[in-house]
Parts: sequence; C-alpha cells; structure tokens
Amino acid sequence: MSESLLTALIAVALIAAVVIPYALRTKRREKTAESRLAELQIAGLQAATMMHPHIDALACIGCGSCVAACPEEDVLGVIGGKAVLVHGAKCIGHGLCADACPVGAITLLMASPGRSANLPVLSEEYETSVPGIFIVGELGGMGLIKNAVLQGRRAVDAVATRISPHKGMLDVLIVGAGPAGLASGLSAMERKLRYAVLEQGDVGGTILRYPRRKVVLTSPVDLPVWGRLRFTEATKEQLLETWEKIIRSTGLEVKTDEKMAEIRFVDGMFRVRSSKDEYVTRTVILAMGRRGIPRRLGVPGEELPKVVYQLIDAESFTDMDLLVVGGGDSAIEAAIALAVQKTNRVTLSYRQAEFTKMKERNAVHLREQVRSKRLTLAMNSVVQEIQQHHVILATPGGTMELRNEQVFICAGGELPFAQLTEMGIQFHQQLLADTHSA
Ligand SMILES: Cc1cc2nc3c(=O)[nH]c(=O)nc-3n(C[C@H](O)[C@H](O)[C@H](O)COP(=O)(O)OP(=O)(O)OC[C@H]3O[C@@H](n4cnc5c(N)ncnc54)[C@H](O)[C@@H]3O)c2cc1C
Repeated sequence: MSESLLTALIAVALIAAVVIPYALRTKRREKTAESRLAELQIAGLQAATMMHPHIDALACIGCGSCVAACPEEDVLGVIGGKAVLVHGAKCIGHGLCADACPVGAITLLMASPGRSANLPVLSEEYETSVPGIFIVGELGGMGLIKNAVLQGRRAVDAVATRISPHKGMLDVLIVGAGPAGLASGLSAMERKLRYAVLEQGDVGGTILRYPRRKVVLTSPVDLPVWGRLRFTEATKEQLLETWEKIIRSTGLEVKTDEKMAEIRFVDGMFRVRSSKDEYVTRTVILAMGRRGIPRRLGVPGEELPKVVYQLIDAESFTDMDLLVVGGGDSAIEAAIALAVQKTNRVTLSYRQAEFTKMKERNAVHLREQVRSKRLTLAMNSVVQEIQQHHVILATPGGTMELRNEQVFICAGGELPFAQLTEMGIQFHQQLLADTHSA
C-alpha cells in the first residue's frame, strides 16, 4: 500500500472516530431537547415568567455555548441547528448564556405580558413608568445576587445624569439594603452623589432569611468602591460577614430599622416619608425584593404557634414530623435542610404537579432525600387544615391526614403592589387589563 493511501486511510479513520460520535451525540441531544420542548409546551412551561434569553435565530450559529453555560439543566437546547428556550419557566435569569454566545445572538428580555405576572414595566435602565423612580433586583423580576448588583449599578449610572441642582435635596434615595440596594448605595458613593439607603430591618435582605449555613452560589461580580466580590460559593454567614466588612471599610451609610412608608411627587421632586424621617430627593431606587410580608394560606389552624414562615436553623429540629409548604427555592431548601437532620420525617406539599423553577443543585439534593425516604413529596396537594398534632391535605387521591409537630409555610410574600400602583408605577398585568378593557 502506498504511503499516501495509508495517510489518507488514517485521516479518514481519525475523522470517523471523532466526527461520527460527535454527530450522533448532537443528534441525540437534539432529539431529547425536541421531545422535552413538546412536553413542556403542552404543560405550558415553555414560556418564561421572568427575565430570560431571547435568541436571534438568524444570528445563532447553533454552537451550543449557551446550553453549556447555563447552570440549570434543560432550560436551553439546540434544535435544528439553533438554540431554543426549552424550559422557560425554569429560567431564573443567570444571564450566562448571553455572555457565552460568541456571536451576540442572545439578549435578556422580560417575560411577555400575561406570563410576567406582577412585574413592573421597566426601561433598559430600570426606570419605571414614573420618571425618576427606578426598580432594581428581585422586585423587578430578576432573581440572583449577581443580577441584583449589576442592576443597582446600572440604575445609578442613569441617576448620575440627573443630579439635583438643590443642595438640601438628595440625588437618590434607595429603599432596601439587600444586594441590589447595597450595590446601588456603593455606586452612589462612587459617583459622589448625595444618597440615603433606608432598610426596614437589617442589612443583607433575603440572605438574612436563608437557613443557617446555607450554601450560596453566585458569580464573581464587581462592587463599586470595594472591588471584586470573588467567591462563587460561600455560606450565608460568610456572605453576610463580607457585606458587613464592605460596609465598614467603605463607610457606606445604611439607615436600618427605617421603613419607607410613602413616596409623593411634589413640585418636581420626590418627598419620601419613612417610619423615622422625611426626605426630599431627585430620584428614588426601589430595591425592596419580592419577599414582602409572608403569604398566608388562610386555612383553619394557621394561627397555631407551631406554624412559622421561615426556617433559620434546621439543626434545632430533630426526630419530628414536619410539613413544609411551597414550591420555590425557600420551600425546597427548607425541606432538604430538615430532611438532612436524619431522624426527621419531612413532607413537602406543593399545589402544582412539578417544581418549575428548581435549581439543578436543589433538584439533585431533593432526589437524594426522596430516595432515602427522609422526604416525601405531596405534589398537587393543598393544606386544608392545621391541627395541634396533625395536618390535613387535600390531594387528587382524597384527603390525607399527616402527623405533624411543626409547619413551615414558604409560599412567598405579598408585595406592596397597592403602594407601588398608587405611585403610578405600571405593571405588565395592569397593561394587559388596560389593553383588554380598551
Ligand atoms: C432560599 C433562597 C435561596 C437563594 N439562593 C441563592 C443563591 O444561592 N444564589 C443567588 O445568587 N441567589 C439566591 N437566592 C436569590 C437571592 O437571595 C435574591 O435574588 C436577592 O437577595 C435579591 O436581592 P434584592 O436586593 O433584590 O432583594 P432582597 O435581598 O429581598 O432585599 C430587599 C430588602 O428591602 C427591604 N425592604 C423592603 N421593603 C422595604 C421598605 N418599605 N422600606 C425599607 N426597606 C424595605 C427588605 O427588608 C430587604 O432587606 C435565593 C433566594 C432564596 C429565597
């Protein structure tokens, strides 16, 4: 056999060894994505409910970088050589897909009216329909610490172009000292704006309410004045310690235990009344999160002392019959934390058939606990009554009575919609209603 023929045969063999398996793998993944998409379309879970990727099909080259970059399984897939949003309802707005796309085919968009229940209408700079009032962080519909920080900075960039001409007036008043409010405050400091940060509780926001020693996953992000927040994984306590260190060393002023009560627009400026004082400001940034007042179930027995609305310290519950109610991060993480205390018997009750927004890491832990029989899932169930030693659940198979010593209701919060709409801030739902009645 001639040398050139041998070289050609080796080349063909090498190509076959690499290209054929790759093509087969790609085909298999496309098929899986296609059937998952069909399933989710039927279940109504394909469309996003929050900030999510919009893929420009003409620009997309189908390389799959976005699929690989997304930390959540199944959210994106490549079908017919193009990236597709497969499980939109599970998207929690990491935004890593947009960063990873080599051709800039992905932009992040708010969910469409009707799907985006109770999300405020915002400009690209996070300004609401009331000029001068901005909404950043989770209240605007985008979860995650990194996003809250980035939005806070971006809103202050816009605010900085509207500095107040009057010395006695603030340039910006920030409501909330979670990640979004703290980043907004640091940005305001960096830009030498006259600012105030009001926090109704303590510094930290929702992070304060995480269970003890909860592992927080985040992406490195730049904080104005302070620099890079480098870690990708930390406990709740480490993260809170870091925030405190940042506040101490930068001198950021936060007025804690001071609740914003009212905002009025009078003579070209905002008058903000709080539980302690009154402020006059050129602009306002609302970084109030979406926890609000814990949502109640409104069922008999909810007033019993064994019913609580958050779990802080899972370790203080052992050898108990426990019920967790809800289907979001808080409920799932509380149920896992309680089930890990090996002698507990935990039931997680959720009114839907599927957890639509569960993070991949939580899904893995949840499966583990269910497999080990420490955690029972009661999907499609609704709490009917809470009694001293039992709870009654309504399920598709009939009524279920469970022994119970403690109930954790993690069903989200009632947001201050009335207060925000009174200020003139428009919401997507409201726009939809206006369009229908027009
Ligand atoms: C259980 C759980 C686990 C999570 N895990 C992660 C994770 O691992 N990684 C991640 O990136 N994200 C995680 N998140 C999401 C993350 O915590 C939120 O996206 C983030 O905290 C939102 O920041 P924020 O500043 O918008 O709101 P928040 O953190 O909710 O802060 C809002 C602040 O505003 C204050 N406030 C509200 N109203 C007023 C008022 N009228 N006057 C004064 N102050 C007011 C509140 O007291 C609060 O301190 C998790 C969330 C939960 C519930």
